[in-house]
Amino acid sequence: MSAQTQPTVLIVEDEPAQREVLAYNLEAEGFRVVKAENGEEGLIMVEEETPDIIVLDWMLPNVSGIEVCRRLKTRTETRAIPILMLSARSEEVDKVRGLETGADDYVVKPYSVIELMARVRAQLRRTRPATVGERLEYEDIILDAETHRVTRSGEALKLGPTEFRLLSTFMEKPGRVWSREQLLDRVWGRDIYVDTRTVDVHIGRLRKALTRHGGEDPLRTVRGAGYALG
Ligand code: CA
Repeated sequence: MSAQTQPTVLIVEDEPAQREVLAYNLEAEGFRVVKAENGEEGLIMVEEETPDIIVLDWMLPNVSGIEVCRRLKTRTETRAIPILMLSARSEEVDKVRGLETGADDYVVKPYSVIELMARVRAQLRRTRPATVGERLEYEDIILDAETHRVTRSGEALKLGPTEFRLLSTFMEKPGRVWSREQLLDRVWGRDIYVDTRTVDVHIGRLRKALTRHGGEDPLRTVRGAGYALG
């Protein structure tokens, strides 16, 4: 599975059994899972893996979950990553809210796996809609991430898998300028070596597909920076 259709979840949990159960269930749901045993490791993993969502335990040795959350939410580069906080008691949830650490959601232990999955999906629907099968719209372009169908002004467009992932990346954040390196990470996956010129080739194909039935080229080349939709 590609980096685009498979969101990365970072689990920060010190209890091995809990960490493994979570990882098992998230992987079974089609997520890519990376794990950290404590807060320090969690912060490093955020740098290395740029996860799409973090499931963060409140009670961690040394650097607590609250502290990890606070640090990530004060940094511009990591602020937008949704954090789902796990806590042992409901009083802790009240405290988390009161502390305004910026966690995006909270789940009290013991939680039901089904509920946790629903919460994870809810966060991703907001931040990475294409990865959870949402329908995206931009002007006259409609992309259905579940059926992998793309239309423009009602006309079906034929896109290769790479062009599809490129377009869904753009449609998740219209107006955002993506560098070639960022597109490589997101669309090809960060473990694969691909030359940045490959990005230009696929952008060219995507442009051709998007304008095949008429309409203006919605993709913008930003000199020295990369590409944007609109
Ligand atoms: Ca713990």
